Amino acid sequence: MCIFCNIVDGKIPNQTVVQNEEFLAFNDISPLAKIHVLIIPKAHISSFNEVSPQTMANMTSFIQEVVKKLNIKDNGYRLITNIGKEGGQEVEHLHFHLLAGEQLGKII
Ligand code: 5GP
Ligand code: ZN
Repeated sequence: MCIFCNIVDGKIPNQTVVQNEEFLAFNDISPLAKIHVLIIPKAHISSFNEVSPQTMANMTSFIQEVVKKLNIKDNGYRLITNIGKEGGQEVEHLHFHLLAGEQLGKII
């Protein structure tokens, strides 16, 4: 079972920001910004390569809910999903990094 599936199952503790039946948002263990939240589907999906359009649509609404909860909509934020080896993905369970809370350096 992957690390994030263990988090979903409660076998590894996490600092939850928001959750619903289908998704979980929790603080990254080694934050790269003042706010660094990981957003994952509770079901195991390896990466963006495998996600269905329907799940992605639901995930979009959930991410918007997280943004609302964190009150970062107006100041702005960054969403990143790493995919595969050259994309820098380390945990093979789909996740979006939500970075915010300070001026972020330009990466692209
Ligand atoms: P990736 O490199 O796959 O895009 O991102 C994986 C992220 O998961 C990293 O930012 C890393 O800090 C985070 N991470 C890895 N293990 C754990 C953990 O056990 N708990 C939490 N909260 N985050 C983790
Ligand atoms: Zn998993």
